[in-house]
Amino acid sequence: MRLSRYFMPTIKETPSEAQIASHRLMLRAGMIRQSSAGIYSWLPTGFRVLKRIEQIVREEMNAAGCHEMLMPTIQPADLWRESGRYDDYGPEMLRIKDRHDRDMLYGPTNEEQITEIFRNAVKSYRDLPRNLYHIQWKFRDEIRPRFGIMRGREFYMKDAYSFDIDYASAKRSYNKMFVSYLRVFARMGLKAVPMAAESGPIGGDLSHEFVILADTGESAVYCHRALLERDVLGSKIDFESNLEPIVADWTSHYAATDDKHDPDNCPVAPGDLVTARGIEVGHIFYSDTKYSDAMNCRVDTPDGQSVAVHSGSYGIGVSRLVGAIIEASHDDDGIIWPESVAPFAVGLIDLKPSDDACAAACDDLYGKLVAAGLEVLHDDTDDRAGAKFAAMDLIGLPWQLIVGPRGVKEGKVELKRRATGEREELSIEAAISKLTG
Ligand code: ATP
Ligand code: MG
Repeated sequence: MRLSRYFMPTIKETPSEAQIASHRLMLRAGMIRQSSAGIYSWLPTGFRVLKRIEQIVREEMNAAGCHEMLMPTIQPADLWRESGRYDDYGPEMLRIKDRHDRDMLYGPTNEEQITEIFRNAVKSYRDLPRNLYHIQWKFRDEIRPRFGIMRGREFYMKDAYSFDIDYASAKRSYNKMFVSYLRVFARMGLKAVPMAAESGPIGGDLSHEFVILADTGESAVYCHRALLERDVLGSKIDFESNLEPIVADWTSHYAATDDKHDPDNCPVAPGDLVTARGIEVGHIFYSDTKYSDAMNCRVDTPDGQSVAVHSGSYGIGVSRLVGAIIEASHDDDGIIWPESVAPFAVGLIDLKPSDDACAAACDDLYGKLVAAGLEVLHDDTDDRAGAKFAAMDLIGLPWQLIVGPRGVKEGKVELKRRATGEREELSIEAAISKLTG
């Protein structure tokens, strides 16, 4: 991508409306623009990151045996009247009337919609278990939208729904999502800690929030140090195997959010207790037969009885993750993207595009890197070197490849690693093989 033809409206000044780093940096890097309170447009660079995060989520959901689909954003109120949540939900729900005066709503979540689809299609235990998910926009008319896309009103969520014949099977579905979530966040370079969460009126202990630690998190969290020192991606997971030992091992260590933490009865020695702020990036939840009972979602058992289906809901804040990753990974100069979600892998900086040899070297490098499968942002603009470096640091691509006329004469370029600031001078060939190797 040539920067001279791209759309990335960066801002030098600090936007006054932004209170936290991720919001500030997303505006400055030209990733998002506000439309109205809590509602944002995703500009090309922000959209690239959003899509990369979405793809990691998709790959891990599919690996865990879930099936992707797509449900609408606008839902009929009658469905929500069946579950009783139309009245329970309150002003967070955006209620709409269509031209026939029918009550509609912009979905804040999709339990009712998926339960309706499922109950009409599935009648037998043979069709269980199933886990269906979609990645779709949600609307919640938050009382205090803030921190940019972190607490938006319109936001992008992955929500999965499991259907099982009984508790034991539902627990297996829950375990799959628990382990899958650990992998999703680890692949984004995040340490997400599963924390026991309030499970609401249903009771039981099957609800976990996945929280990443960051100073700007909205809630205080407490956990055993051991939970932050784990290598999640080190071992391959067979999702058809018994995952209970993995889940039991994670949940054996203390981890609690503010509302669950009792300082007087904390089981962790002070030296092992990490006290921090946290951002909720995912939430998994076993709902028992709450929706199936209310909406008559039943299947026949092998011995001919009819039972309500056990269900679970599993959300990931895909758009919130963009901000959460920045909160976890930035410095004074800008964003530091983990490679797995970076909008481009390499920023190719031409220090003097008016110099023919320099421009030719950049074109050659660009072609070779792209041919090797890398996404490259080629700064071919006439800006000053200082401005180019600052913009590249701001947008935080993992690598910067700096090409100037003097180096090109000697066949040399400079390679800078954004995360560490390390720079090295290399031959053009060595730089290519380092980036593509
Ligand atoms: P919160 O406690 O942050 O309000 P929640 O518990 O209401 O979130 P869930 O219903 O569990 O949210 O939704 C699943 C995920 O969607 C959350 O873990 C979070 O990552 C994301 N999410 C929820 N609300 C918002 C929002 N207003 N803006 C962006 N992401 C959100
Ligand atoms: Mg939640």
